[in-house]
Amino acid sequence: MRPIRPGDRGPAVTEIRTVLTGLDLLPPSTGDEFDGATERAVRAFQQSRGLSIDGRVGAETWRALDAARWRLGARTLYHAVPEPLTGEDVRSLQERLLEMGYDVGHADAIYGIRTSRAVAQFQREVGLKPDGSCGPHTMGALRRLGRKVVGGRPQWLRESDAIRQSGPTLVGRTVVIDPGHGGTDPGVVVPDGPLRWTEADLVHDLASRLEGRLAAAGVRVQLTRGPAPQTCLPDADRAQLANSLGADVFISLHTDEHANPEADGVATYHYGTDNGVTSTTGERLAGLVQREIVARTGLRDCRTHAKAWDLLRLTRMPAVRVEVGYLTSPRDRGRLVDPRFRDRVVEAIVAAVQRMYFPVERDVPTGSIDVSELRAVVAAGAVVD
Ligand SMILES: [Zn+2]
Repeated sequence: MRPIRPGDRGPAVTEIRTVLTGLDLLPPSTGDEFDGATERAVRAFQQSRGLSIDGRVGAETWRALDAARWRLGARTLYHAVPEPLTGEDVRSLQERLLEMGYDVGHADAIYGIRTSRAVAQFQREVGLKPDGSCGPHTMGALRRLGRKVVGGRPQWLRESDAIRQSGPTLVGRTVVIDPGHGGTDPGVVVPDGPLRWTEADLVHDLASRLEGRLAAAGVRVQLTRGPAPQTCLPDADRAQLANSLGADVFISLHTDEHANPEADGVATYHYGTDNGVTSTTGERLAGLVQREIVARTGLRDCRTHAKAWDLLRLTRMPAVRVEVGYLTSPRDRGRLVDPRFRDRVVEAIVAAVQRMYFPVERDVPTGSIDVSELRAVVAAGAVVD
């Protein structure tokens, strides 16, 4: 085709001007003339795309302009063979994925195999079918989740993919369990008739039970403190301990308190800040722990929450803090002092840790994992699958 050049008029020029206006290279105006402003815009466009800069629209520049008209979300993107899809929407998608920590190479506006793989990774991450194509559902998830990780720690997303790829087995994982308080700090204390329940004692009991269950499933378990330590370890030191052990998962156990005895229920916390930065894996683990506990114990669902506490911020693995009921609530306390109830809490946490390692597409309904089976599988020497 003959290049469209300065001085030309007609519908093709109008189209070129429309695309350039859409790219913010040309002020909005009507007209079908290839004027000086159009030429400057074409040159700027050519420069931005690494094309030879001649201010004319030949075949190559025309193809690039044609690709540039696509706005992200206007069409479904997929890995087409042998002629890959190209366009500004592909570039926007790639930039978005890069921002979120996915490996798309560089944003070259070509929907190649690397982009397709990155999209599939993202889809697995958010629980969509990982087909590597970007349609309305994937776009929706990108819009919803994008903000969470921009400016955050993109390795979180890679980290969670590494977790999935490491397979579903619990054997050989390291879990650090952190019974809160201890030593000079008993945590919440509730005198109850002749008895005196302390948070430190209750959560240490929970931690020991959890240790037993996880160890039976083949997990290496480490507690951050014994039943009666001399001093109370600061949260930053507890996080440091988990880091130095190379823990795969960190679970801190607490009970809550409130002046109003009516306040009750379970809440789980993961790392996150007010401006929406969040640990994706931590958030997922928190969601699983919370849902399993609610389903298996009937404690009131006080939801999951993002916090920037030392314990959650300084740990380098998925970390959660669970507030298992209010010791100040007669209802919750009555349940917590029952060892059978504490066993149910522990089973819920074991089920959550197991589900964390299931691929999303093979995840199971809340409350459905029989944790005693994990032990049988380990005993049989098989890999949990
Ligand atoms: Zn506490």
